[in-house]
Order: sequence, then structure tokens, then C-alpha cells
Amino acid sequence: MSAMSVVNVTEQVTRQILYEAYVQPGRLACACLLCQEDILAIALNHLPPRYVSRHTGELYAKAEYFNLQLESDVLQQLARAAQAVAAHPRHEKPS
Ligand SMILES: [Zn+2]
Repeated sequence: MSAMSVVNVTEQVTRQILYEAYVQPGRLACACLLCQEDILAIALNHLPPRYVSRHTGELYAKAEYFNLQLESDVLQQLARAAQAVAAHPRHEKPS
């Protein structure tokens, strides 16, 4: 039997939106993995987690992605987090 595990749908959706709205269009001051993970962590600390079993996680994430209130909350928190990390990256600012 495989190990039981759960996934946080909010995290999946937030990772997806961070990529589509910031990383892919090149909107981050720095897109290194350290900055990306810092942005994700800051944003997720201000968003309610939604846990589901991994078995149903993927399907559920797709449905949640089209939850407009969640998407709006995620975008708002990502904007705050991206601004905070751009102002204070945990490494030297790129010149
Ligand atoms: Zn960086």
C-alpha cells in the first residue's frame, strides 16, 4: 500500500498563477528559485489552505482554479509578496 498523503489545493493554484502571471511573462524583479519560493511562502501564509487527498487533488485543483474569488485572493497576495521580495530579496540585488 502506498503512503497516505494530502495536497494543499491553495498551494497548487498559487504555484500555477505565480508561474502564469509572473514568471512566464517576466514580471518578477528576480525570477531565481529562492525568490520564487519566498514569494510563494509569503503569499501562502496569507491564504487559507484547502487540503484534499492526493487521489482527488488534481481534479479538484482544476475546479478550484476557476473559483474566481480564490483566484482574485491569490493574485492580490502574490502582488504583495512579489513587491516585498523585490524590495528585500534574500540575496544581493541583481545589478
Ligand atoms: Zn532572486
